[in-house]
Amino acid sequence: MAAPTGPLTLPAVVEELLSEMAAAVRDGAPLLPRLKFVFGSSAVQALDLVDRQSVTLISSPSGRRVYQVLGSSGRTYTCLASCHYCSCPAFAFSVLRKGDSLLCKHLLAVYLSQVTRTCQQLSVSDKQLTDILSAEKTQEA
Ligand SMILES: [Zn+2]
Repeated sequence: MAAPTGPLTLPAVVEELLSEMAAAVRDGAPLLPRLKFVFGSSAVQALDLVDRQSVTLISSPSGRRVYQVLGSSGRTYTCLASCHYCSCPAFAFSVLRKGDSLLCKHLLAVYLSQVTRTCQQLSVSDKQLTDILSAEKTQEA
């Protein structure tokens, strides 16, 4: 029986890679060579974002969770790890439109910070979280 795959499913290859990364972290193995092999220069940029603690997990009482990543340009991008989405132009262009990348450096940084448990945590009210999400939409317009 084939499992249905939809937009809410993490691409299998990413999922596979993440468990590989988690194992590498446990064993103290370096992450970069394998990441670079799969993601090229995005891997270096994503690890840099993680090193600079640019990833923040924002959660609200109702259980909604979004990630915010402070990009190298100083802009903040909103990432939804649960449905594999980032608000940056690179994601819209390379991932959604052209389909030649699996993810952008922000999403990769989000996944890496999950694996290495290095993301910042921020609790906000439901109203604040909604505001964060709608502010992001306004910026896109
Ligand atoms: Zn992005």
